[in-house]
Amino acid sequence: MPAQNDELPALLTDGHGRTVRYLRISVTDRCNLCCRYCRDDSVPFIPHENILRFEEIEQVIATAATLGIHKLRFTGGEPFARKGFLEFLIGIHQRFPQMALKLTSNGTLLAPALETLKELGVSVNLSLDTLDREKYASITGRDMLPTVLENMHRMLELGIPLKINAVAMRGVNDGELAALASMAMDWPVDVRFIEFMPMGDSTIWSNSLFWPAADILDTARRYWKLDPVALRRRDGKESEGSTAEERGPAKLWKLITPEGKVSRGSFGLITSVTQSFCQSCNRLRLTAEGNLRTCLFDDREYPIRDILREKGTEEVRRIMLDAVSRKPVGAEILAASQGPVAHKRMSAIGG
Ligand code: SAM
Repeated sequence: MPAQNDELPALLTDGHGRTVRYLRISVTDRCNLCCRYCRDDSVPFIPHENILRFEEIEQVIATAATLGIHKLRFTGGEPFARKGFLEFLIGIHQRFPQMALKLTSNGTLLAPALETLKELGVSVNLSLDTLDREKYASITGRDMLPTVLENMHRMLELGIPLKINAVAMRGVNDGELAALASMAMDWPVDVRFIEFMPMGDSTIWSNSLFWPAADILDTARRYWKLDPVALRRRDGKESEGSTAEERGPAKLWKLITPEGKVSRGSFGLITSVTQSFCQSCNRLRLTAEGNLRTCLFDDREYPIRDILREKGTEEVRRIMLDAVSRKPVGAEILAASQGPVAHKRMSAIGG
C-alpha cells in the first residue's frame, strides 16, 4: 500500500510553501509517434549513452524516497519505446512497494505489458486526442488508432485505473468533444481535456489552435448537465476534505444526460494555460538525460547524471533539495513570456 503523506518526511519544500511529493520520470525521449503538438522530429534523439541507465534512475528514486516522494509517474517519449522498461518497472515495484506507480502512455505498445501493469497496481494516463482514424494518423504520424483502442478496452476489462488525456485543439478535435467525453458515460474513466501549452521554440501553438477551457466547458454544457465532482482522495473515494495535491490538477464533473443518466467516469479540464494550479504543484521532474526540472515552464534544469556517476547519491540529494527550494511559480513565467514558454518541446522534457 502506498504510504500516507503524514508518515513521510516533508523535506522537499520550496520557497512558496509547497511540498514536493511527486516525481515524474522521463525514461526516454524516444517515441514511436510524432504528435505535432508534442515532438519536433528535426530534433535528434539523445544518444543512448547520455540517457540515465535504469539502475541510475533507481538510485534517484531511492534518494527521492528518503526526501518524502511517494508517487512516481513514468513518461517520455514513450516509456515502452525503451527496451527493458517493464522489467525495470517490476523492479521498482519490488524495491519501493510504498510508491504509487503511474504511467503516461500513448497506448500503442502496451499489449504485452497489460497483465503485469494490473498486477503491479499501475494506473495509466492514456493520451488520445481523437477517435477519428485519419485524424489520429495526421496528428501522430502513425495509423495506430485501432491498436490504441484495443489496448484501452483491454485495460478497462482488466480493471486498470485509467484516465484519458486529450490535448484540446480548436479546428482539430473541437468537433469531437461529445464523442471523446462520452467514453466517461459508459466506462469508469476520467476523460480530461488539456489546454494546449505553447511549449518549445518550435511549437505549432497558435491563438487559432488554442481552445480554452472555458469554451470547452460551454461546449460540454450543450450535451450534458455537469455536476462538479467533490475532490477525491488518493484511495479513489470522494471526500469534501481532500486536497488538490491528492486529486491532481484536473477539475472534474459528472455528466448527466437529459434523461438523467449519470456518467460512470468524469469529464475533466486541465487548465494549464488559463487558470494555473501552481499553488498546489507538488511535482519534480527528471528528464531522460538526467536533469532535474522543477517546472514545465522553467528552462532551468539541474544535471545530476554525471554527478551521480562521479560523486554518488549524497550529492544528488543535496542538488534535489536545492533545486526544489528554487521551484518557481510557472504561471508567472507563462504570463511573462511573449511566445513559447520553454525552449524544449514536451517530448524532450517528459509531459
Ligand atoms: N508518449 C506518452 C504519451 O503519449 O502519453 C508520454 C509522453 S507525452 C509528452 C505526455 C503528455 O503530454 C501527453 O498526454 C501529451 O498529450 C501531452 N502534451 C504534449 N505536448 C503538449 C502540449 N504542448 N500541451 C499540452 N499537453 C501536451
